[in-house]
Amino acid sequence: KMLQITNLLAVCLLIPVIFSSPFELTEKYVKDFQDGIDRLVEVSDKTILQEESYKPENYDEEAALKDAEEFDFIVIGAGSSGAVVANRLSEVPEWKVLVLEAGAPESLYAQPPSMRNILLNTPYNWGYKSEPQEKACQGANDDRCNINTGRALGGSSAISKMIYTRGSGKDYDTWADLGNDGWCYKDVLPYFKKSEDAHLHKFDRKYHSQGGPLNVEEPQHNSKLREAFLQAGQELGYKVIEANGEEPIGVATPQLVTKGGRRSSVSRAYLETAKSRKNLSVRPFSQVTQILIAPHTKEANGVKYVHKGKLFIAKSKKEIIVSAGAINSPQLLMLSGIGPKEHLESLGLECIQDLAVGNNLKDHVVFLGMNLVSNETISEGDQKENLISWLKDGKGPLSQTGVEALAFLKTDASKDAKHPDIKFIVVPHAMNLGYDYAKREYNIRKELYDSIWAANEGKLGCSIFVVLPHPKSTGTVRLHTKDPLNYPIINGNYLTDEEQV
Ligand SMILES: Cc1cc2nc3c(=O)[nH]c(=O)nc-3n(C[C@H](O)[C@H](O)[C@H](O)COP(=O)(O)OP(=O)(O)OC[C@H]3O[C@@H](n4cnc5c(N)ncnc54)[C@H](O)[C@@H]3O)c2cc1C
Repeated sequence: KMLQITNLLAVCLLIPVIFSSPFELTEKYVKDFQDGIDRLVEVSDKTILQEESYKPENYDEEAALKDAEEFDFIVIGAGSSGAVVANRLSEVPEWKVLVLEAGAPESLYAQPPSMRNILLNTPYNWGYKSEPQEKACQGANDDRCNINTGRALGGSSAISKMIYTRGSGKDYDTWADLGNDGWCYKDVLPYFKKSEDAHLHKFDRKYHSQGGPLNVEEPQHNSKLREAFLQAGQELGYKVIEANGEEPIGVATPQLVTKGGRRSSVSRAYLETAKSRKNLSVRPFSQVTQILIAPHTKEANGVKYVHKGKLFIAKSKKEIIVSAGAINSPQLLMLSGIGPKEHLESLGLECIQDLAVGNNLKDHVVFLGMNLVSNETISEGDQKENLISWLKDGKGPLSQTGVEALAFLKTDASKDAKHPDIKFIVVPHAMNLGYDYAKREYNIRKELYDSIWAANEGKLGCSIFVVLPHPKSTGTVRLHTKDPLNYPIINGNYLTDEEQV
């Protein structure tokens, strides 16, 4: 484990060395970059993602308390939400803001979007798996689906597929109807626009805008698959729509959160740009183990965190923002005494507030079985030329995120005529890129891979992944033990709602 982290550190630390020289695409630069990519692939090949454990005897609480630092705000997790909150809070120079992130800074070599699948088996992913499922995950080892979850500055946006999909306006209106004032689409649209820097060929200014931190662009690599899919959609009577525009149903070219063909995580967009602010401290490799809450006033006033084998305490004068993601936020709240009383007490944790934390897990299932193989073969070109093309102008196969086209469709089962209930993601090659690819992404069983995809390895083809965007099945996140470094128990209860099967 230490070896993996050291390797990852080495890959990260190369960033300043390379950036410090004026940019020139020399033979040496290209070779160094390829070596960096190769090292990241090696880390991915060797890594076994597994939980750690917290041994109290290794940590000095008294020393941590004595050296406790004080901030106005503490943001837990530097993912898509935490990075934005930290940026906005630290706009106020008088507020001292601390960001604690369990994962590493992103590697320069993770920037080609085509590296996405490799990252899934590195410490940039927590490595969670669902509990064995009865109605889903039957093609996965032990019937356990991968629950890929980013662990990096940038969080899941550092390992995501980079598709910029806001969801349909109705999704937000439903949130507002559930009692969340300020969350209907009309209310959130100005913030989407404020965050965006749209570099799209054509876009509707009612929905898009320019000048924000998050670059949004179309894929930088032209693909025959995309054209064929959009044409097929039109033949079936669907409109070609703009992915985040007026029309919610149709086929579309994806919009991507990339910048000039390079991954542009939320951390790059929101933390990098704020790093000169003296009132903002961003600490990677810092995992919060507990939120400190005064039992009587029930006021959160600090956190404990481990950083490179040492325990630290940070105090907050104003607020603590829990932005540790859909799995780790409930885990951390429960570890801190906020959660279902019976569950916490069964593990020997004091319950400060009895709440249904971890009770409403919604996860969108994907059906992987629609695979197409074409008679045509394409050459992806020479590896070195592809790298040069990407380094020069962010184009070519290395800029591919693995998503060629999208469809937002309404099935006959839907009761809503105006909004999609199924999404298609067209993925080139996809599952016939080899067993390692399929296992990293979906924990697929080898015999299943061999019986379905192996015969098509190397052929031009694609998979059409069918996504259920509004799952009705509801799962849970629970603690396995009270050890803060153990993995939580994640039970998606996928496809248990009969209506959606
Ligand atoms: C493989 C993958 C592909 C995806 N593809 C897309 C896509 O194409 N389009 C799209 O819109 N969405 C996509 N998503 C989803 C999207 O990335 C997430 O919805 C979004 O990033 C969630 O943001 P968040 O801030 O809630 O959590 P995250 O971004 O996951 O951030 C949580 C952060 O908190 C940190 N953390 C957790 N626990 C602690 C702790 N105890 N102490 C300190 N830090 C902690 C984590 O390490 C992480 O960095 C994808 C997600 C994954 C995993």
